[in-house]
Amino acid sequence: MKLRADIVEMLRNGHTHAEIMRTFRVAHKTVKAHRIALHMPEPKRGGHVLRPIKDEFYARTEPVDGGHLRWTGHHANGVPRLGRQGKHPSAYRVGFRLHHGREPVGHAKPGCGYPQCVAPAHLEDRPMRAQLRSQMAGIFGGAR
Ligand SMILES: [Zn+2]
Repeated sequence: MKLRADIVEMLRNGHTHAEIMRTFRVAHKTVKAHRIALHMPEPKRGGHVLRPIKDEFYARTEPVDGGHLRWTGHHANGVPRLGRQGKHPSAYRVGFRLHHGREPVGHAKPGCGYPQCVAPAHLEDRPMRAQLRSQMAGIFGGAR
């Protein structure tokens, strides 16, 4: 399929299907075919195109000295959370998935010591914490 550059641009800029249909007087299926050809996600309720979760995540972070990442999005019960499509997964979980490519087992939490750090490479899940503890125990002769 040959893509129209003007439709592609509007999709990439986050315009709704309805806006694009109105602007170019094209059918819904034309806009949808473009979106699918671009591998863009389904638009969320309200018609706005959903950005990839990676973009949503990094748009709410701020780098801190030491390679840490501060969460500038909202918090609930002291946990940074990413509001998206009516769901509020913890930013630790989302970051963990981005870095490790799998779901965390148990809670995902920063293991770097920086309070509420969401740097994906600094996030650990339960098996990783357990493994670290057993390595420490091996080094320090079972202390703790
Ligand atoms: Zn960190």
